[in-house]
Amino acid sequence: MYKFIVNKNSQQNGDHEVHNKTQGCSYMPNNENRIDLGSHEFCHQAVASAKSQWPNEKINGCYYCCNPCHTS
Ligand SMILES: [Zn+2]
Repeated sequence: MYKFIVNKNSQQNGDHEVHNKTQGCSYMPNNENRIDLGSHEFCHQAVASAKSQWPNEKINGCYYCCNPCHTS
C-alpha cells in the first residue's frame, strides 16, 4: 500500500495531480497544498477516491510518480 495525496492547486491545464507520498516525488506540492487521499495499492484507486470526493474537479495522476494514471 502507498499513501497518496492530491494537489489542492490545479495545474495550468486545470488538472489536480495525484502524487505518491510513500515513494516521494520531486513534483510534490508544499505541505499546505496537499490533500491526503489515504492508502491505496494503485494510483488508479487514489485517483478514483479523489474524483469521488471532488466530482467537479479534474483529477489526474502525476506523470512522474503515478505514470500509469497520467492521462493528460
Ligand atoms: Zn508526482
